[in-house]
Amino acid sequence: MALIEIKNVAKTFGNFTALHSIDLSISDQEFMVLLGASGCGKTTLLRIIAGLETPSQGEVWIGGKRVDQLPPKDRGIAMVFQNYAVFPHLTVFENIAFGLRMAKVPDADVKRRVERNAELMHIEQLLGRYSGQLSGGQRQRVAVARALAMEPDVILMDEPLSNLDALLRMEMRAELKGVLAESNTTTIYVTHDQVEAMSMADRISVMNGGKIVQAATPIEVYRNPAARFVGSFIGNPPMNFLPASKSAAGHRRVADVDFPAPASDRDVIEFAIRPEDVTPGKTGLPAKVRVIEPLGPHLLLTCDMDGHAFRAVVESDLTVATGDTLYLIPQQDRIRWFEPETNLAIGG
Ligand code: ATP
Repeated sequence: MALIEIKNVAKTFGNFTALHSIDLSISDQEFMVLLGASGCGKTTLLRIIAGLETPSQGEVWIGGKRVDQLPPKDRGIAMVFQNYAVFPHLTVFENIAFGLRMAKVPDADVKRRVERNAELMHIEQLLGRYSGQLSGGQRQRVAVARALAMEPDVILMDEPLSNLDALLRMEMRAELKGVLAESNTTTIYVTHDQVEAMSMADRISVMNGGKIVQAATPIEVYRNPAARFVGSFIGNPPMNFLPASKSAAGHRRVADVDFPAPASDRDVIEFAIRPEDVTPGKTGLPAKVRVIEPLGPHLLLTCDMDGHAFRAVVESDLTVATGDTLYLIPQQDRIRWFEPETNLAIGG
Protein backbone atom coordinates (compact mmCIF):
# COMPACT_ATOMS: atom_id res chain seq x y z
CA MET A 1 0.00 0.00 0.00
CA ALA A 2 1.54 3.30 -0.99
CA LEU A 3 -0.86 6.08 -0.26
CA ILE A 4 1.08 9.36 -0.39
CA GLU A 5 -0.03 12.29 1.73
CA ILE A 6 1.40 15.76 1.51
CA LYS A 7 0.24 17.83 4.43
CA ASN A 8 0.64 21.60 4.55
CA VAL A 9 4.02 21.47 2.78
CA ALA A 10 5.71 24.78 2.01
CA LYS A 11 9.17 25.63 0.74
CA THR A 12 11.01 28.91 0.82
CA PHE A 13 14.39 29.67 -0.68
CA GLY A 14 15.61 32.79 1.18
CA ASN A 15 12.67 35.17 0.94
CA PHE A 16 11.21 33.46 -2.16
CA THR A 17 8.30 31.09 -1.58
CA ALA A 18 8.49 28.26 -4.11
CA LEU A 19 5.61 26.28 -2.55
CA HIS A 20 2.69 27.63 -0.52
CA SER A 21 1.08 25.22 1.90
CA ILE A 22 0.40 22.23 -0.36
CA ASP A 23 -2.12 19.57 0.65
CA LEU A 24 -2.44 16.58 -1.64
CA SER A 25 -3.40 12.98 -1.21
CA ILE A 26 -2.41 10.41 -3.84
CA SER A 27 -4.14 7.05 -3.67
CA ASP A 28 -2.43 3.69 -3.71
CA GLN A 29 -1.55 2.81 -7.35
CA GLU A 30 -2.76 6.14 -8.66
CA PHE A 31 -0.97 7.87 -11.54
CA MET A 32 -0.77 11.52 -10.47
CA VAL A 33 0.66 14.14 -12.80
CA LEU A 34 1.98 17.47 -11.54
CA LEU A 35 1.43 19.86 -14.42
CA GLY A 36 2.39 23.50 -14.72
CA ALA A 37 4.56 26.06 -16.45
CA SER A 38 8.27 26.34 -15.81
CA GLY A 39 8.98 27.66 -12.31
CA CYS A 40 5.60 26.77 -10.75
CA GLY A 41 7.22 24.46 -8.18
CA LYS A 42 6.58 20.96 -9.60
CA THR A 43 10.17 19.79 -9.34
CA THR A 44 10.53 21.25 -5.85
CA LEU A 45 7.45 19.34 -4.69
CA LEU A 46 8.71 16.11 -6.26
CA ARG A 47 12.15 16.59 -4.70
CA ILE A 48 10.53 17.07 -1.29
CA ILE A 49 8.60 13.80 -1.70
CA ALA A 50 11.81 12.09 -2.82
CA GLY A 51 13.79 13.46 0.12
CA LEU A 52 16.21 15.46 -2.02
CA GLU A 53 14.87 18.70 -0.55
CA THR A 54 13.65 19.45 2.99
CA PRO A 55 10.29 21.18 3.34
CA SER A 56 10.25 24.47 5.25
CA GLN A 57 7.04 23.27 6.87
CA GLY A 58 4.62 20.37 6.65
CA GLU A 59 4.74 16.60 6.47
CA VAL A 60 5.13 13.88 3.85
CA TRP A 61 3.63 10.45 4.50
CA ILE A 62 4.15 7.37 2.33
CA GLY A 63 2.25 4.16 3.04
CA GLY A 64 1.12 5.35 6.45
CA LYS A 65 4.62 6.32 7.56
CA ARG A 66 5.92 9.84 8.06
CA VAL A 67 9.00 10.14 5.82
CA ASP A 68 9.94 13.82 5.62
CA GLN A 69 12.85 13.35 7.98
CA LEU A 70 14.09 10.12 6.33
CA PRO A 71 16.85 9.95 3.71
CA PRO A 72 15.72 9.14 0.14
CA LYS A 73 16.91 5.52 0.32
CA ASP A 74 14.60 4.78 3.25
CA ARG A 75 11.43 6.01 1.55
CA GLY A 76 10.77 2.97 -0.67
CA ILE A 77 10.76 4.96 -3.90
CA ALA A 78 12.44 4.84 -7.29
CA MET A 79 13.01 8.04 -9.21
CA VAL A 80 13.80 9.33 -12.64
CA PHE A 81 14.96 12.91 -12.63
CA GLN A 82 15.75 15.36 -15.41
CA ASN A 83 19.49 14.96 -14.85
CA TYR A 84 19.14 11.18 -15.04
CA ALA A 85 22.15 9.73 -13.27
CA VAL A 86 23.19 7.04 -15.72
CA PHE A 87 26.71 5.77 -15.01
CA PRO A 88 28.87 6.19 -18.14
CA HIS A 89 31.41 3.50 -17.14
CA LEU A 90 28.70 0.81 -16.87
CA THR A 91 26.93 -0.94 -19.72
CA VAL A 92 23.26 -0.31 -20.29
CA PHE A 93 22.56 -3.76 -18.82
CA GLU A 94 24.47 -2.97 -15.63
CA ASN A 95 22.90 0.46 -15.37
CA ILE A 96 19.42 -1.03 -15.47
CA ALA A 97 20.55 -3.81 -13.10
CA PHE A 98 22.15 -1.36 -10.67
CA GLY A 99 19.43 -1.17 -8.01
CA LEU A 100 18.67 -4.89 -8.31
CA ARG A 101 22.31 -5.76 -7.66
CA MET A 102 22.33 -3.48 -4.62
CA ALA A 103 19.20 -5.28 -3.39
CA LYS A 104 20.97 -8.64 -3.98
CA VAL A 105 18.33 -9.90 -6.38
CA PRO A 106 19.35 -13.34 -7.84
CA ASP A 107 21.10 -13.18 -11.25
CA ALA A 108 18.37 -14.94 -13.19
CA ASP A 109 15.79 -12.46 -11.91
CA VAL A 110 18.07 -9.52 -12.68
CA LYS A 111 18.44 -10.74 -16.26
CA ARG A 112 14.71 -11.18 -16.71
CA ARG A 113 13.82 -7.79 -15.24
CA VAL A 114 16.55 -5.94 -17.15
CA GLU A 115 15.57 -7.51 -20.47
CA ARG A 116 11.88 -6.94 -19.97
CA ASN A 117 12.26 -3.26 -19.13
CA ALA A 118 14.88 -2.64 -21.81
CA GLU A 119 12.45 -4.06 -24.34
CA LEU A 120 9.69 -1.89 -23.02
CA MET A 121 11.83 1.20 -23.49
CA HIS A 122 13.01 -0.01 -26.92
CA ILE A 123 16.68 -0.16 -25.89
CA GLU A 124 17.16 -3.94 -25.85
CA GLN A 125 19.66 -3.69 -28.69
CA LEU A 126 21.81 -1.34 -26.58
CA LEU A 127 22.26 -3.59 -23.53
CA GLY A 128 25.96 -4.24 -24.24
CA ARG A 129 26.87 -0.61 -24.87
CA TYR A 130 28.53 1.70 -22.41
CA SER A 131 26.16 4.41 -21.36
CA GLY A 132 28.72 7.08 -22.17
CA GLN A 133 28.13 6.19 -25.83
CA LEU A 134 24.40 6.88 -25.77
CA SER A 135 22.34 9.84 -26.93
CA GLY A 136 20.43 11.91 -24.38
CA GLY A 137 17.15 10.23 -25.30
CA GLN A 138 18.67 6.76 -24.98
CA ARG A 139 20.17 7.60 -21.59
CA GLN A 140 16.82 8.88 -20.45
CA ARG A 141 15.20 5.57 -21.39
CA VAL A 142 17.91 3.68 -19.49
CA ALA A 143 17.01 5.74 -16.41
CA VAL A 144 13.31 4.90 -16.81
CA ALA A 145 14.06 1.20 -17.34
CA ARG A 146 16.28 1.18 -14.23
CA ALA A 147 13.50 2.68 -12.11
CA LEU A 148 10.85 0.30 -13.49
CA ALA A 149 13.11 -2.72 -12.97
CA MET A 150 13.01 -2.05 -9.23
CA GLU A 151 9.24 -2.71 -9.30
CA PRO A 152 8.89 -0.04 -6.63
CA ASP A 153 5.83 0.84 -4.57
CA VAL A 154 6.32 4.46 -5.55
CA ILE A 155 7.94 5.89 -8.64
CA LEU A 156 8.68 9.60 -9.03
CA MET A 157 9.43 10.90 -12.50
CA ASP A 158 10.42 14.40 -13.56
CA GLU A 159 9.97 14.98 -17.30
CA PRO A 160 11.27 11.46 -18.06
CA LEU A 161 10.50 11.70 -21.77
CA SER A 162 11.71 15.26 -22.38
CA ASN A 163 14.68 14.29 -24.55
CA LEU A 164 12.78 12.10 -26.98
CA ASP A 165 11.55 13.17 -30.39
CA ALA A 166 7.81 13.63 -30.83
CA LEU A 167 7.01 10.20 -32.28
CA LEU A 168 9.08 8.20 -29.80
CA ARG A 169 7.70 10.31 -26.98
CA MET A 170 4.17 9.42 -27.99
CA GLU A 171 5.06 5.73 -28.17
CA MET A 172 6.88 5.78 -24.84
CA ARG A 173 4.09 7.54 -23.00
CA ALA A 174 1.68 4.78 -24.05
CA GLU A 175 4.21 2.07 -23.05
CA LEU A 176 4.83 3.71 -19.69
CA LYS A 177 1.16 4.19 -19.00
CA GLY A 178 0.51 0.55 -19.87
CA VAL A 179 3.27 -0.88 -17.73
CA LEU A 180 2.47 1.32 -14.73
CA ALA A 181 -1.22 0.46 -14.97
CA GLU A 182 -0.33 -3.24 -14.77
CA SER A 183 2.00 -2.76 -11.82
CA ASN A 184 1.12 -1.98 -8.21
CA THR A 185 3.08 1.24 -8.33
CA THR A 186 1.91 4.65 -7.20
CA THR A 187 3.29 7.19 -9.65
CA ILE A 188 3.94 10.91 -9.42
CA TYR A 189 4.95 12.31 -12.77
CA VAL A 190 6.06 15.88 -13.44
CA THR A 191 5.56 17.46 -16.83
CA HIS A 192 4.84 20.81 -18.41
CA ASP A 193 3.35 19.00 -21.42
CA GLN A 194 -0.43 19.08 -21.11
CA VAL A 195 -0.96 16.41 -23.77
CA GLU A 196 1.29 14.04 -21.83
CA ALA A 197 -0.57 14.92 -18.64
CA MET A 198 -4.02 14.45 -20.16
CA SER A 199 -3.11 11.16 -21.84
CA MET A 200 -1.35 9.49 -18.92
CA ALA A 201 -2.85 10.70 -15.65
CA ASP A 202 -5.54 9.25 -13.43
CA ARG A 203 -5.56 12.71 -11.90
CA ILE A 204 -3.75 15.92 -12.74
CA SER A 205 -2.64 18.48 -10.17
CA VAL A 206 -2.47 21.75 -12.05
CA MET A 207 0.08 24.03 -10.40
CA ASN A 208 0.61 27.76 -10.67
CA GLY A 209 2.85 30.02 -8.62
CA GLY A 210 3.69 27.39 -6.00
CA LYS A 211 0.06 26.32 -5.44
CA ILE A 212 -2.15 23.48 -6.63
CA VAL A 213 -4.99 25.21 -8.42
CA GLN A 214 -6.98 22.04 -9.17
CA ALA A 215 -6.46 18.32 -8.66
CA ALA A 216 -8.92 16.26 -10.67
CA THR A 217 -9.27 13.77 -13.51
CA PRO A 218 -8.06 14.93 -16.94
CA ILE A 219 -11.61 15.25 -18.26
CA GLU A 220 -12.69 17.24 -15.20
CA VAL A 221 -9.84 19.75 -15.46
CA TYR A 222 -10.60 20.08 -19.15
CA ARG A 223 -14.37 20.43 -18.89
CA ASN A 224 -14.71 22.09 -15.50
CA PRO A 225 -11.66 24.21 -14.80
CA ALA A 226 -11.81 25.37 -11.19
CA ALA A 227 -10.02 28.57 -12.11
CA ARG A 228 -9.43 30.70 -15.17
CA PHE A 229 -5.76 29.68 -15.14
CA VAL A 230 -6.68 26.02 -15.68
CA GLY A 231 -8.91 26.86 -18.66
CA SER A 232 -6.19 28.99 -20.20
CA PHE A 233 -3.36 26.53 -19.52
CA ILE A 234 -5.07 23.30 -20.60
CA GLY A 235 -6.31 22.87 -24.13
CA ASN A 236 -4.63 23.79 -27.36
CA PRO A 237 -5.88 26.30 -28.30
CA PRO A 238 -7.01 27.30 -24.82
CA MET A 239 -10.49 28.39 -23.66
CA ASN A 240 -11.90 31.66 -24.94
CA PHE A 241 -12.79 34.30 -22.37
CA LEU A 242 -15.14 37.23 -22.92
CA PRO A 243 -16.53 39.87 -20.57
CA ALA A 244 -20.16 39.34 -19.60
CA SER A 245 -22.13 42.33 -18.33
CA LYS A 246 -25.40 42.36 -16.39
CA SER A 247 -28.54 41.95 -18.43
CA ALA A 248 -32.09 40.66 -17.83
CA ALA A 249 -32.60 38.78 -14.56
CA GLY A 250 -30.55 35.58 -14.50
CA HIS A 251 -28.75 36.51 -17.70
CA ARG A 252 -25.47 38.01 -18.87
CA ARG A 253 -24.74 39.84 -22.09
CA VAL A 254 -21.76 38.65 -24.11
CA ALA A 255 -20.93 40.39 -27.42
CA ASP A 256 -24.58 41.51 -27.69
CA VAL A 257 -26.05 38.06 -27.02
CA ASP A 258 -27.81 37.15 -23.76
CA PHE A 259 -27.04 33.88 -21.98
CA PRO A 260 -28.52 32.38 -18.81
CA ALA A 261 -25.83 32.83 -16.15
CA PRO A 262 -25.24 32.03 -12.48
CA ALA A 263 -25.85 34.78 -9.94
CA SER A 264 -23.01 37.17 -9.13
CA ASP A 265 -22.95 40.65 -7.59
CA ARG A 266 -20.27 41.78 -10.00
CA ASP A 267 -21.12 44.06 -12.88
CA VAL A 268 -18.84 42.15 -15.19
CA ILE A 269 -17.87 38.49 -14.96
CA GLU A 270 -16.15 36.27 -17.52
CA PHE A 271 -17.84 33.96 -19.97
CA ALA A 272 -15.68 31.06 -21.14
CA ILE A 273 -16.06 28.47 -23.87
CA ARG A 274 -13.67 26.05 -25.54
CA PRO A 275 -12.94 26.61 -29.25
CA GLU A 276 -14.50 23.27 -30.25
CA ASP A 277 -17.70 23.95 -28.31
CA VAL A 278 -19.13 26.47 -30.77
CA THR A 279 -20.98 25.78 -34.01
CA PRO A 280 -21.49 28.26 -36.85
CA GLY A 281 -25.17 29.16 -37.37
CA LYS A 282 -27.51 31.91 -38.47
CA THR A 283 -27.50 33.71 -35.13
CA GLY A 284 -25.02 33.65 -32.25
CA LEU A 285 -21.80 35.39 -31.22
CA PRO A 286 -20.59 37.53 -34.15
CA ALA A 287 -17.03 36.58 -35.10
CA LYS A 288 -15.04 38.34 -37.77
CA VAL A 289 -12.57 35.83 -39.19
CA ARG A 290 -8.94 37.04 -39.16
CA VAL A 291 -6.90 33.88 -39.74
CA ILE A 292 -7.84 30.43 -41.06
CA GLU A 293 -5.57 27.48 -40.24
CA PRO A 294 -6.45 24.12 -41.80
CA LEU A 295 -5.52 21.39 -39.29
CA GLY A 296 -6.54 18.36 -41.35
CA PRO A 297 -9.78 17.21 -39.77
CA HIS A 298 -10.69 20.76 -38.64
CA LEU A 299 -10.18 24.43 -39.35
CA LEU A 300 -8.86 26.65 -36.61
CA LEU A 301 -10.29 30.12 -36.95
CA THR A 302 -8.89 33.13 -35.14
CA CYS A 303 -11.60 35.75 -35.01
CA ASP A 304 -12.30 39.15 -33.62
CA MET A 305 -15.29 39.19 -31.32
CA ASP A 306 -16.31 42.56 -29.99
CA GLY A 307 -12.65 43.61 -29.79
CA HIS A 308 -11.48 40.32 -28.21
CA ALA A 309 -9.59 37.47 -29.84
CA PHE A 310 -11.75 34.34 -30.13
CA ARG A 311 -10.70 30.97 -31.49
CA ALA A 312 -13.07 28.44 -32.97
CA VAL A 313 -12.47 24.91 -34.22
CA VAL A 314 -14.93 24.12 -37.01
CA GLU A 315 -15.52 21.38 -39.59
CA SER A 316 -12.93 21.54 -42.38
CA ASP A 317 -15.63 21.63 -45.07
CA LEU A 318 -17.05 24.93 -43.80
CA THR A 319 -16.90 27.54 -46.56
CA VAL A 320 -15.26 30.54 -44.98
CA ALA A 321 -12.87 33.30 -46.04
CA THR A 322 -10.80 35.82 -44.13
CA GLY A 323 -12.89 38.90 -43.40
CA ASP A 324 -16.20 36.98 -43.22
CA THR A 325 -18.43 37.40 -40.20
CA LEU A 326 -19.68 34.11 -38.75
CA TYR A 327 -22.26 33.62 -36.03
CA LEU A 328 -21.03 31.12 -33.47
CA ILE A 329 -23.46 29.29 -31.20
CA PRO A 330 -21.88 28.05 -27.96
CA GLN A 331 -23.02 24.69 -26.68
CA GLN A 332 -25.02 25.79 -23.63
CA ASP A 333 -23.84 23.08 -21.23
CA ARG A 334 -20.20 23.79 -22.05
CA ILE A 335 -20.29 27.46 -21.08
CA ARG A 336 -18.31 28.29 -17.92
CA TRP A 337 -18.19 31.47 -15.85
CA PHE A 338 -15.39 33.04 -13.81
CA GLU A 339 -15.14 35.73 -11.17
CA PRO A 340 -12.83 38.47 -12.42
CA GLU A 341 -11.10 39.16 -9.10
CA THR A 342 -10.52 35.67 -7.71
CA ASN A 343 -10.43 34.08 -11.17
CA LEU A 344 -12.38 31.16 -9.72
CA ALA A 345 -15.25 29.36 -11.43
CA ILE A 346 -18.76 30.48 -10.54
CA GLY A 347 -21.69 28.13 -10.32
CA GLY A 348 -19.73 24.86 -10.16
P1 ATP B 1 10.78 23.56 -14.52
O1 ATP B 1 9.69 22.92 -15.32
O2 ATP B 1 11.43 24.71 -15.21
O3 ATP B 1 11.76 22.58 -13.94
P2 ATP B 1 9.38 23.72 -11.97
O4 ATP B 1 7.93 23.99 -11.98
O5 ATP B 1 9.80 22.32 -11.76
O6 ATP B 1 10.05 24.30 -13.28
P3 ATP B 1 10.94 24.33 -9.66
O7 ATP B 1 12.23 23.77 -10.16
O8 ATP B 1 10.22 23.56 -8.63
O9 ATP B 1 9.98 24.66 -10.87
O10 ATP B 1 11.24 25.78 -9.10
C1 ATP B 1 10.23 26.58 -8.49
C2 ATP B 1 10.80 27.94 -8.16
O11 ATP B 1 11.75 27.81 -7.10
C3 ATP B 1 11.54 28.59 -9.31
O12 ATP B 1 11.23 29.97 -9.33
C4 ATP B 1 12.99 28.34 -9.00
O13 ATP B 1 13.80 29.36 -9.53
C5 ATP B 1 13.00 28.35 -7.48
N1 ATP B 1 14.05 27.47 -6.96
C6 ATP B 1 14.16 26.15 -7.12
N2 ATP B 1 15.24 25.66 -6.48
C7 ATP B 1 15.84 26.71 -5.89
C8 ATP B 1 17.02 26.88 -5.07
N3 ATP B 1 17.78 25.83 -4.72
N4 ATP B 1 17.30 28.12 -4.65
C9 ATP B 1 16.53 29.18 -4.97
N5 ATP B 1 15.42 29.11 -5.75
C10 ATP B 1 15.08 27.90 -6.19
